Amino acid sequence: MEDGYYIGRRWEDLDTDILVKIFQSFDILELTSGIAHVCSAWRMACCDPLLWKTLDLSMMKSNFIKIPLEPYVYVDGRSDKILTRLLKISMSLSRGNITTLIFHFNLFVSDEQLTYTAERCPQLRRLVLPAWNRIKKTGICKAIRAWKDLESLTMPGIANPPYLMEEISKNCKNFRELKIMGPCDKFFASTLATFLPTLKVLSLRCSMLYKEALIIVLDSLPHLEVLNISHCLLIEVLPPPGPKKVVSEIDQSIIEKASRLREFLTCMNDSCTMCQRTKIDEGLMRWYRYEEGLWKADEKQNKMLLNKYKWQPSLWSYLCCKRHPPTGRFGFDT
Ligand SMILES: [Zn+2]
Repeated sequence: MEDGYYIGRRWEDLDTDILVKIFQSFDILELTSGIAHVCSAWRMACCDPLLWKTLDLSMMKSNFIKIPLEPYVYVDGRSDKILTRLLKISMSLSRGNITTLIFHFNLFVSDEQLTYTAERCPQLRRLVLPAWNRIKKTGICKAIRAWKDLESLTMPGIANPPYLMEEISKNCKNFRELKIMGPCDKFFASTLATFLPTLKVLSLRCSMLYKEALIIVLDSLPHLEVLNISHCLLIEVLPPPGPKKVVSEIDQSIIEKASRLREFLTCMNDSCTMCQRTKIDEGLMRWYRYEEGLWKADEKQNKMLLNKYKWQPSLWSYLCCKRHPPTGRFGFDT
């Protein structure tokens, strides 16, 4: 400052790396709120690949009501417009650099929104797609064809899995991780064995799991390294005219089959909150009733969290998972 006259630096002269660092602290709503239009320097910073590795829309929910007819959900037009606008800006700024895409459990994406996004995220490796009532077979298949590098998929269970698994097996050569949020029966497990025999990580947590399906998974996925069946409702179908029964403990034959896995995560405990919820919801969790973000938790990731933050007894007892090491021995993993 000289003679009371201040000569300041202009915003556009700010170092791009510093701008990117600042923008990294913004969430997606802030990042797409118009800051890219301030000046060319800010737009360049807004397009930096560092900001776009992950497009996390897990804070965005649709404004919707449930309806009795297909697709069993009605999304209001304004909610759709907001999502379309956000996707357009994000796709423009990200310039094809997104590798992880996360949708909220109650963000009901349309076919058009999904395929528009898929065509502009050719490097996608991880997709979290829990709400897909409005997505048709043609929409999801078209998207999968655009995602040649897809490695990991999280989604609800599906009644007719072959077309999706076949599309993944034909197009995604590096696919290795599947997390299903829904029932796993014999048909589903056989479909996995047919189309995705090289799967390495499978999570079926908080779902209805048929014992015969579990056996198929263990026998027919030779490359499987990690299996998470925590808080599942394990069902055994007895020979006719016998009824279905809920299994309360994993038997030795399953333990032996699972002994080849690097990690086998289980929890079947009447005092576990998550086990109780799976039981009450009859193996199809109504996630909207529970804590925000719980649907995307996973024991495997939480375990890494435990390792990162050292020993936390309270969190561990909440999760109350059992990890079965390759020896097939039961016990808590500390
Ligand atoms: Zn449990």
